[in-house]
Amino acid sequence: MKQKLIFATHNPNKIKEIQELIPPEIDLLSLKDINCIEDIEETGTTLEENAKIKVDYIKNKYGYDCFADDSGLEVDALDGAPGVYSARYAGSEKNNEKNIQKVWENLFDKEEKNAQFKTVIAANINGKEFLCEGKIRGTIIDKKRGTGGFGYDPIFIPEGHSKTFAELGKEVKNKISHRAKAFTVFLNNLKQSQRVKIKE
Ligand code: IMP
Repeated sequence: MKQKLIFATHNPNKIKEIQELIPPEIDLLSLKDINCIEDIEETGTTLEENAKIKVDYIKNKYGYDCFADDSGLEVDALDGAPGVYSARYAGSEKNNEKNIQKVWENLFDKEEKNAQFKTVIAANINGKEFLCEGKIRGTIIDKKRGTGGFGYDPIFIPEGHSKTFAELGKEVKNKISHRAKAFTVFLNNLKQSQRVKIKE
């Protein structure tokens, strides 16, 4: 029987993206596939904690091997804010426009506009718990540019580029993003652990 692995997300785009990259001997399932329709409360104060909360919830309640991701924008001059609170920086309604306005307000008197996006992936697979991370450095600009992407993409120019994530488009972003980097590390770990398992 194929090994089942849960990706603890309600986001079908994330599932689709990772599905094609998972080794064929693993059956990738979403939260919907295991009838987990509840929102897992992200009560942690770091990306690592939140990713781990989701993994532990699924392992404890449903018993499945699982991985989960959590991402955020960390602005240097704001001591790493909005960070783990990126989605709800300006309030619980998770409004992208208001979140961007709040970053601009807080950066108003700051010279230095460096920032990074960071993704953390937590996993509990074959009895082993591990964390992977991916980062991309860049700069915050004071006008929105581009229509692609989501969240803070229109105000973030990744290092080595002159366009925002929202202008660069999905193809380029998916190659260089924090999420792509974290998933590459995760998939390498996963393939390694599968090889070890098969050899046994
Ligand atoms: P999530 O953990 O992937 O759901 O990301 C949490 C929040 O961080 C999002 O709601 C966005 O506000 C922000 N964020 C994460 N990744 C990105 C990205 O690639 N572009 C823009 N914003 C992002």
